[in-house]
Amino acid sequence: MRLSEIKIHLCPPGSGRLKAFCTITIDQGFVIRDVKIIQGDDGLFIAMPSRKLCDHCPRCHEKNHLRARFCNQCGTRLNENRYLNYRLGPNRLKLHADIAHPIHARARSEIEKQLFDAYEREIELSRQPGYVPTPMETDLSELATTYKFGAA
Ligand SMILES: [Zn+2]
Repeated sequence: MRLSEIKIHLCPPGSGRLKAFCTITIDQGFVIRDVKIIQGDDGLFIAMPSRKLCDHCPRCHEKNHLRARFCNQCGTRLNENRYLNYRLGPNRLKLHADIAHPIHARARSEIEKQLFDAYEREIELSRQPGYVPTPMETDLSELATTYKFGAA
């Protein structure tokens, strides 16, 4: 799994465990945004873009997040404990679902390695005078620090 382009947007110091947002391009043909680098207890890990899971209001059938206490549409009070029905395991609740994700451990570790390398390089760069941070994806400026790896 070759990442042909990686953009790293470092989070400012004091952002807690969230260290960076990344945009990755796979094989020069597919882009995934909002990949996060997070500091875990045992080192860095990546979190793929995800969405909050929803269910439907019993009265108007509008979609609401599983933790919503009132319906967005009709204001009906919702059962606050209904999210407990969505379990992955004894102690894990399923409140989010990945939008895009690796499907086996090898692909995950290949992506992680390339992202962590780019992250370390970005940190090094950020210590140089005149460093210009990679803009967030909402910022379409041309200032992005872009890594292009081994063009075929
Ligand atoms: Zn409703």
